[in-house]
Amino acid sequence: MSISPVVAEVDFGQPGRQLGQLRVPQSRDDSGWGTILVPILVIAGGSGPTVLLTAGNHGDEYEGQVALLDLARTLREEEVQGRVILLPAMHYPACVAGRRLSPLDGRDFNRCFPGDPFGGFALSLAHFVDSVLLPLCDFQMDLHSGGTGMDILPSAVGHVLDDPDMQARTLAMADAFGAPTTLLLREVNAGPTLLAAAERRGIVALSSELGGGGRLNPDNLAITKRGARNVLHHAGVLEGPPQPGAYGAAQRMTVPDLAHYVFAPCDGIWEAADPLGRAVSSGNPAGLLHRIEALGEPPIELWYAATGVLWCVRHAGRVKAGDPVAVIARPL
Ligand SMILES: [Zn+2]
Repeated sequence: MSISPVVAEVDFGQPGRQLGQLRVPQSRDDSGWGTILVPILVIAGGSGPTVLLTAGNHGDEYEGQVALLDLARTLREEEVQGRVILLPAMHYPACVAGRRLSPLDGRDFNRCFPGDPFGGFALSLAHFVDSVLLPLCDFQMDLHSGGTGMDILPSAVGHVLDDPDMQARTLAMADAFGAPTTLLLREVNAGPTLLAAAERRGIVALSSELGGGGRLNPDNLAITKRGARNVLHHAGVLEGPPQPGAYGAAQRMTVPDLAHYVFAPCDGIWEAADPLGRAVSSGNPAGLLHRIEALGEPPIELWYAATGVLWCVRHAGRVKAGDPVAVIARPL
């Protein structure tokens, strides 16, 4: 018996196609028993594994949201062997606002896991996803892009894991997704993410990065639509093998440590030396940080401390001290 205050208006044990909502409490001045409705689709049939596909963890990342809306329209009950659970706009208030953080309380939903049933909207929803949905799952993928702040090469992303068996299974699912890059990431503050919550429960789990800049990139949307179905093929929920992109098999890369990040040491305006995807070398200039307060002084030059491909670049021009402005990936 879950202590979650979230009510699922679908029955996860029932076969067939169910469109419904998660009813998440959100008290307001004019509605003490108010709830926010988070759209959910469950399709179950035959026997097979359960796959949870989520998007809209961050509201300003659009490829995943649109790809799962497309899958919700096109996935037919009779082709499913097992169970598919779709949450295309998981952190619904942030999705409606087109923002990374919640307009309700400023929370980053992907820093809310494993959640708290009585902690307010984001924490109680995270607790429901962790304690009710994840235990149903064999596979999970949470679709992200770079959002307003970053622009990132289209990639299926898994964490660097200690367990070699789980690492191999994660890599296999990432390759099956079929983005141009399969990437193993050492993430800043991974612990409270949905991906880490799924890993703690022994679920084969992926995230992604599929562009960014706060826009919907059509090429990356095509990768995401194909990738979402490819995950279902890989899991055995859909018949047949995953379909690779025209660019062929995914190239395996890694961001193994924080030395592969370039962080801004102070506030300023970032002038990058290189575009996304360029080969870069340790010791070469990464760009200039311009300080509007330092009239008459030269800009601060930043340098790469790793060699590889520029996998992620800062999109927004203005940065704060401690923000990453570049992330380098190297071949795995
Ligand atoms: Zn994100």
